[in-house]
Amino acid sequence: MSDAKMTIKVLPEAVIGRIAAGEAIERPASVVKELIENAIDAGASAVQVEVEAGGARLLRVSDNGAGIRRREIELAFKRHATSKLRSADELQGLRTLGFRGEALASIAAVSRATIVTRHRDEPMGVTLRLRGGAVEHERPAGAPAGTVVTIENLFFNTPARLKFLKSEATEKRHIHWAAARYAMAYPHIAFALKQDGRERFRSSGGGELADVLAKVFGLKEAKCMVAVDAVEARRPGRPRIAVAGYVSLPTLSRASRDRIILFVNGRAIQDPALSHAVTQAYDGLLPAGAFPFAVLLLTMPPDFVDVNVHPTKAEVRFRDAQLVFAAVQRAVREVLLGSADAAPDPWAESAFSDVYVGYQKPPPQWPRSAGDELFDDAGLDEMPEAGAPPSRPRTLPVLRVVGQVGAAYIIAEGPAGLYLVDQNAAHERVLYQKLIDESANGGIEGALLAESQTVLLSPEDSELLAQVGHLFTHLSFEIELFGPNSFVIRRSPMLLGGMQAAEFMPRLLDCLRGSARTPTDAAAALASVAALRRGQILEREKMQSLIAQLERCPEPFASPGGRKTFIHLSREDLAEEFRRR
Ligand code: ADP
Ligand code: MG
Repeated sequence: MSDAKMTIKVLPEAVIGRIAAGEAIERPASVVKELIENAIDAGASAVQVEVEAGGARLLRVSDNGAGIRRREIELAFKRHATSKLRSADELQGLRTLGFRGEALASIAAVSRATIVTRHRDEPMGVTLRLRGGAVEHERPAGAPAGTVVTIENLFFNTPARLKFLKSEATEKRHIHWAAARYAMAYPHIAFALKQDGRERFRSSGGGELADVLAKVFGLKEAKCMVAVDAVEARRPGRPRIAVAGYVSLPTLSRASRDRIILFVNGRAIQDPALSHAVTQAYDGLLPAGAFPFAVLLLTMPPDFVDVNVHPTKAEVRFRDAQLVFAAVQRAVREVLLGSADAAPDPWAESAFSDVYVGYQKPPPQWPRSAGDELFDDAGLDEMPEAGAPPSRPRTLPVLRVVGQVGAAYIIAEGPAGLYLVDQNAAHERVLYQKLIDESANGGIEGALLAESQTVLLSPEDSELLAQVGHLFTHLSFEIELFGPNSFVIRRSPMLLGGMQAAEFMPRLLDCLRGSARTPTDAAAALASVAALRRGQILEREKMQSLIAQLERCPEPFASPGGRKTFIHLSREDLAEEFRRR
């Protein structure tokens, strides 16, 4: 620095407060989160949140918890003053959400704060009012047991931060989710949220997560979710990790990960790797670009997780992250694969039925949820075309079939030029997408054979079939062992039409042999076996229907195995070839 008179000085407390406040208190929703956490730590059974103007004008959190003793009230607003932690050792085994003793001080430093509280053992309560962290007055007050914290003019003395606040709608949405998250993690606590005098959300405190889910996501969505309740088997040297909550069936999904909500020991956390573990459990069940809904509460020994790594406590570090991911993935996967007979589901049979009645395929725009008006800038929901049955958004322009060449390629033209389509690769893509849609929507379609077929396989193929039998079941096959290396096929996927088992069995097994053997690989194998081959002469209608389906595949450019589905020659390419430019 050029100023020679610059010396090192400890900043006055008020300045420290304003700087530090920036760390944990980024926006109005951070205040709501901290105050809710305090209410939960205080043992409240009811928490009410009121907000005006997206929190910029007023934020108030009221609880019926233990309250603060009069002689401790000023201390509560001092930095690093906490009743929840005595020594560094205790950080290892925290059972409260707060521990740094920073929130009240940080919030008060950048606002006008008023607290009215009465400790449940004291006859009289107290009111304390601060401005920019400085106490303006303190006086006795009659009040019910519990605490009401009111924050006005947030960031009034930190203009830079005020300027960075997003639109009021965005702040409202963040506040909504801060409250909704805690309502889901603590279904025993009754939460209410009022924004600008209107009640936006209320949970009963009845203790059932399912009830809160219906409030947060909407009843229709909640009905598409199934309960997860798994505890990792005890093993020596391994912590006990419990995974509970709800996840969506493949019939319900969204185009982003924002409905995957995770808690670790009652704390809402953000962990992209853990979210990924959840989506991985849907491998083969959801199309690319679709993400599940999930509310998962993980419980593990407090010393297995370090919560003291992030200013807003939104991220945590696990002693063995791999173990946690595996536990989550296993728990979710098991529920999804076994969900047909999921017992602890409060909506029982209805879980599968009444959401997509009349639809053959999942609709393109993932269902809107209760909180969606709060997601106004998400911009994800495309409208279906009027009159047409629900279908996916198109990924290619409308193409007109011109003809077929070499009994292998379809020539088509569109506004952007000429397309030479490989009928085999394109059909593979279309069939694969159909299978993925079907498995996401109740299962791949199969049919009992009029006459069951017996097939004799090579010893290697029989061995492989024994290993991947579950994938054949996923493809809707019913196969029984008949004798050594000999099998009876009673049911097979619709896509195979009249093809003979002696033909499709070895080919399917061949496709699966070198693959990772996931349900997606199985779908790709079936698509490859069932697809139109080269050498097949096609009628124009058949070609037009194939192209029309390809136009709406989410990934139309390649077969599932990665082969090109078409070559595009743009007008410019053609003009260039004929040197017209
Ligand atoms: P921390 O939660 O990390 O301890 P805070 O600054 O959030 O730090 O709160 C400081 C202290 O004030 C808490 O430790 C607690 O004793 C008390 N406190 C804050 N809010 C409440 C509340 N709603 N009910 C009872 N006590 C509270
Ligand atoms: Mg706190």
